[in-house]
Amino acid sequence: MGAIEILIIANGGEIQGGLASVDPVALARRYAIGNWESAIGNAFCLGLCYFSAVDTQKPPKKRIAVIAGDGIGQEVIPQALKVIRASGADVEMSEFDWGADRYLRNGMTAPPDGFAMLGRDFDAILAGAFGDPRVKSNIHAKEILLGMRFKMDLYANVRPVRLLDAGLCPLKGVEPKDVDFVVIRENTEGVYTDAGGVFKQGTADEIAIQEDINTRQGVERIVRYAFEYCEQHTKRDGSPRARVLMCDKSNAMTHAGGLWQHVFKEVSGEHPQIEAQHMYVDALCMQMVRDPRGFDVIVTNNMFGDIISDLAAGLQGGLGMAASGNIHPGRTSMFEPVHGSAPPIAGKNVANPLGAILTAAMMLGHLGMTGEAEKIEAAVLEAVRQRKSTQDIGGTLGTREAGEWVAEKVGK
Ligand code: ATP
Repeated sequence: MGAIEILIIANGGEIQGGLASVDPVALARRYAIGNWESAIGNAFCLGLCYFSAVDTQKPPKKRIAVIAGDGIGQEVIPQALKVIRASGADVEMSEFDWGADRYLRNGMTAPPDGFAMLGRDFDAILAGAFGDPRVKSNIHAKEILLGMRFKMDLYANVRPVRLLDAGLCPLKGVEPKDVDFVVIRENTEGVYTDAGGVFKQGTADEIAIQEDINTRQGVERIVRYAFEYCEQHTKRDGSPRARVLMCDKSNAMTHAGGLWQHVFKEVSGEHPQIEAQHMYVDALCMQMVRDPRGFDVIVTNNMFGDIISDLAAGLQGGLGMAASGNIHPGRTSMFEPVHGSAPPIAGKNVANPLGAILTAAMMLGHLGMTGEAEKIEAAVLEAVRQRKSTQDIGGTLGTREAGEWVAEKVGK
């Protein structure tokens, strides 16, 4: 712990310092000042007191906002929380009830200052899923989920694709070492900005226009993110990542594709040690199910990233196994399982909680708690191997029981 200096200025009944406005007794105790009564006395009497103290405290707890949301989000997120607690991670979790129930109760999707509050008061967000058949317009899901991604500018959607056990992959002869890649999806542009409109609606002449927004800044930062990710992350077996593949449809979508092409060329030129590759999205989909061995880091736009990461989830055991992070480096980022709210299976205690649990591990790793993250990943691997899991991946347990098994393993 480094030495810190605290400036205390008496101000009526309270003391204000460089740290924050604090209760004087708590402040003196917190910084373990020998004669704290006299320090407070001086502060009150003289109006100004300056002293140094050694900070004996641990770094502040990381603050996590938890938004379970709708459907199976309400079932899998409690399991992830159990596992986080069992890992001993030094975090403080606050739960928010944003979702369909609240929307149907009072018409509120996210509070007016909700996204600013999340960015200001929390280090990370753990979200479940949004979408409920009772809200036909899906407006709440759009405003909450896309609100977080767009308004908090979480531009990199990072979706690791790892096969934990050969039995989970529908492809013949594919081993865990063969599937260890990551899809990095641009998260704030493309067709998901909802730019466009419908004209002559409801008539025989109806026209629907959905704009595909691609900005130089947006494309460049996601491509850069992919190269930096490649440099900074290793594969599960410790070997370095070596290739970034940009996926587009530039032969047909020439305007946006042209921008992606020339930005990718420029940025890849700055990273000569990384192999730069390109595939059209249709060819990539075919290759992913023929032989996924060659993939390493894939970077693509919002829509292709959405589609190919669901396809890739199929290689690792289905949507119930896939984790993701919505990241803006240096800012509060949001972590969510890849799956949606899955209304057909909601409320039945059958949803696989492992994707949400792996998402929690990803979040802890992002916050610097790598030991806790590795402990959780090891327990999930064991659950998969021992079939202590839900039916979708060959087990017999319910959502709660599978979560409890992992939590118990992590806590040992
Ligand atoms: P969204 O558009 O919100 O991403 P989606 O259309 O991709 O949602 P999901 O809600 O993710 O659809 O689920 C589709 C189907 O996949 C579900 O009905 C269910 O059968 C299966 N599924 C998804 N998540 C899980 C899970 N955690 N455990 C088991 N099955 C799941």
